[in-house]
Amino acid sequence: MKHMTRKATRHVNQNEGLIFEKSGAGKAAWKLPPLDVPEVDSAKLLETSERKNLGNMPEVSEIEIIRHFTRLSTWNYAIDLGMYPLGSCTMKYNPRVNEVVSRLDGLANGHPCQPEDICQGALRIIKILSECLTEITGMEAITLQPAAGAHGELTGLLMVRAYQQSKGNPRKKILIPDSAHGTNPATAGMVGYSVENLKSNARGMVDTAALTAQTNEDVAALMLTNPNTLGIFEQEIHKIAEIMHAKGSLLYMDGANMNALVGKVRPGDFGVDVMHLNLHKTFSTPHGGGGPGSGPVAVKQMLELFLPKPVVITKPDGTLGFEYDRPMSVGRVRAFYGNFGMFVRALAYILANGPDGLRQTTEDAVLNANYIRKGIEGAYDLPYPTPTMHEVVFSDRLQAKKGVKTMDIAKRLIDYGFHPYTTAFPLIVPGALMIEPTESESKEELDLFIEAMRSIAEEVEEDPKIVLDAPHSTRVSRLDEVAAARKPVLRWKPA
Ligand SMILES: *Cc1c(COP(=O)(O)O)cnc(C)c1O
Repeated sequence: MKHMTRKATRHVNQNEGLIFEKSGAGKAAWKLPPLDVPEVDSAKLLETSERKNLGNMPEVSEIEIIRHFTRLSTWNYAIDLGMYPLGSCTMKYNPRVNEVVSRLDGLANGHPCQPEDICQGALRIIKILSECLTEITGMEAITLQPAAGAHGELTGLLMVRAYQQSKGNPRKKILIPDSAHGTNPATAGMVGYSVENLKSNARGMVDTAALTAQTNEDVAALMLTNPNTLGIFEQEIHKIAEIMHAKGSLLYMDGANMNALVGKVRPGDFGVDVMHLNLHKTFSTPHGGGGPGSGPVAVKQMLELFLPKPVVITKPDGTLGFEYDRPMSVGRVRAFYGNFGMFVRALAYILANGPDGLRQTTEDAVLNANYIRKGIEGAYDLPYPTPTMHEVVFSDRLQAKKGVKTMDIAKRLIDYGFHPYTTAFPLIVPGALMIEPTESESKEELDLFIEAMRSIAEEVEEDPKIVLDAPHSTRVSRLDEVAAARKPVLRWKPA
């Protein structure tokens, strides 16, 4: 195997994993000093509360415990170990300063039931972050309540429905391009709309003639990602907005790809009526793993009355507070006010960068993606030659001739010390390799990635089996991925 030096530095000796059982009778991680008080009959003292059967508790020494968990932590992959080029997910580095700020006592120990007059600081954070995000997006009002991008979509479409209803007709359909993220049609379905598919043109953009033909008084909104999931900016976005507005339809923007736009253009200026942001993508708060995310929804003025309640307002005495009396509101979408810890991190990121820093971030994200595009062009098929922004989508067409699919290439990347790219979509590219490096990566890391991708392409030509059987460097190789997600085995049990 070639180019394996980096991998070797990143993984501990594989054989360690085989000796999982460390327990031995009598070993302990503690040692108490000799008793210097009179002994009491502990059996009597603990009569009711003593646990008689300790079950199968392991007996291990302190260093064995430390090594056990430290070793397990190295079996996983993390952004702190290397590039995480999952397209559309914007897996950027989360600066440590965000973590420091979010752990300040007054913020970390705040409680959402505290009276408003003793949490003015927290309210100010919500207010300032709201102002920063409306400025960055060019929108006019915002809610920070939703806990994820998909939750933001749901909130946004509930507002679209409430708005259309207030005009006398909730309408029936949502138009969604065939390049969309799967959550978009799922959300439209949950809100009770039927989904009409919009075909992309040969350049990978919305076909405005088709859009005109499909837009009528039954269409509540178009859900559009811009730049779209091919990484291509919709050049006719103004015209798209005009087509929608002429029929009383709204333009919803999925803002998951804002890392390509922040500080350069504002969706509010190109005709978007409602959009969500993913703070855990663009604004460097931690991603998922089932943990807290944040999907604020920004809107134009005419949708403001429909925002989830409560909203933060400045009261007549100049202090901040929550307003609950919002009769047109779509209601609450989340307990309390959203994931506050994410707001602190996002605001820390925005203030630490400032306007110039945010703009630079966007430029670097686009530059890095295009550096990779140039670096592996030729080795992989590029189905849409249109210029791309913060991500690029190749296909496995060349490798498929040897029986190697995008998933095999992704698995082989693990052996080279990288997290795989996204393989699942966009659906308009069969066998997609969706790559997004983000601005966090150095030229050295990008070069290693390009070298790995080119090397895998060579392997496919010379010895496809090495790619088909990958990964070779992990504790387990190919999993039943559905079973792993649906019926995960999360605990080792003694034989
Ligand atoms: C990530 C993503 C979503 C969903 O966001 P979550 O925070 O994962 O719910 C929606 N659309 C696009 C284009 C995305 O990349």
